[in-house]
Amino acid sequence: MISKKMKEHVKGSSMIRAMFEEGKKMIDLYGADDVHDFSLGNPSTPPPAEINGIINGILKDEKPTFVHGYMNNAGYEDVRETIAKSLNSKYGTSYGAANVIMTVGAAGGLNIILKTLLDPDDEVVVFAPFFGEYRAYTSNYDGKLVVVSANAPDFQPNLAEFAGKLTARTKAVIVNSPNNPTGVIYSEETLEALAGMLREAQEKFGTSIYLLADEPYRELVYDGGFVPFIPKHYENTIVGYSFSKSLSLPGERIGYLVVPSEVADFDDVLSGATVANRISGFVNAPSLQQRTVAKCLDMETDVSGYNKNREALYNGLTEAGYECVKPQGAFYLFVKSPIESDVEFCSLAKKYHILIVPGTAFACPGYVRIAYCVAHETIVASLPKFKKLLEEVR
Ligand code: PLP
Repeated sequence: MISKKMKEHVKGSSMIRAMFEEGKKMIDLYGADDVHDFSLGNPSTPPPAEINGIINGILKDEKPTFVHGYMNNAGYEDVRETIAKSLNSKYGTSYGAANVIMTVGAAGGLNIILKTLLDPDDEVVVFAPFFGEYRAYTSNYDGKLVVVSANAPDFQPNLAEFAGKLTARTKAVIVNSPNNPTGVIYSEETLEALAGMLREAQEKFGTSIYLLADEPYRELVYDGGFVPFIPKHYENTIVGYSFSKSLSLPGERIGYLVVPSEVADFDDVLSGATVANRISGFVNAPSLQQRTVAKCLDMETDVSGYNKNREALYNGLTEAGYECVKPQGAFYLFVKSPIESDVEFCSLAKKYHILIVPGTAFACPGYVRIAYCVAHETIVASLPKFKKLLEEVR
């Protein structure tokens, strides 16, 4: 018999799994062209054209034991140094290899840092709407998730409520900007205010509260938008980065954590996260991909395809009468459900072969998430159907 905890995880995953299965069934029944699947955050922009050449070059030029062997659990020293230098030139920081740990994507990074920080019943504060996997990542280490409710319609963190959620057991706060599912970028003013509240709480409780900045969408911004670098605003920040979206490499499982030297108990956090990489069974991030991304740090992320989709979807849906905030980054649109139940609305959408995810999955009922990392034709073909769907429910 499987564990009670895993039974709960399986139950919790059933909504997304059911949607995935339903999508496959629909494609079999109606053909891929007549199914509008907006359910997954799988990048539709291909990886940069140079990637395969870079990988082939590494395989051809480097010694196999060097490319395919074990290394320090934190990752190759030279790769971490290269990433640190790239961050320094972008953000004016002074990081070295010791501030970077290579991880198995952003998910791996979050898991190892939570494993490092949490004792049972320690609290992790998140702002709704949030990436639903934070529930599982926190429960993996017996932490307690504390949810701050959503701040519609602009979806900046609800700071008035946040202050009251900080306790002597608060160990970490997770922020994700650009945000999944809203596409909103948290402003400098918001982050400054949030940092002030964290400092006050640290002083009041005599504790350290770590701000975990989950940033897989850092490079996916539109209209010249600016994503604040959060360690500049709060000294106890640990950044989790990933190449899953910026280089469209989600299956390669590669990312990193930045642990600035100012972070409380820096040496312990660093050695803890390094050991956590090993004992979580990751051992180290994929070696070939570490070498690959180190050669891609200066590449610009091509957001033109996502931007075209964003404009078409946002304009089409708002003209039809839907309400939503225009995303500043990532590749999601978070739309107000025209009926009270977001779950029922997503069910009704299936009649039009549209697959979207209820806001309930992101702790924000009354909204639905549309992932627009799809072919542009999918957006164009879906718009008349979204319009009919709205007419039906009105
Ligand atoms: N964090 C957020 C907010 C995400 O949206 C995702 C993936 O969609 C992840 C983390 C996990 O990313 P990775 O594939 O790098 O593990």
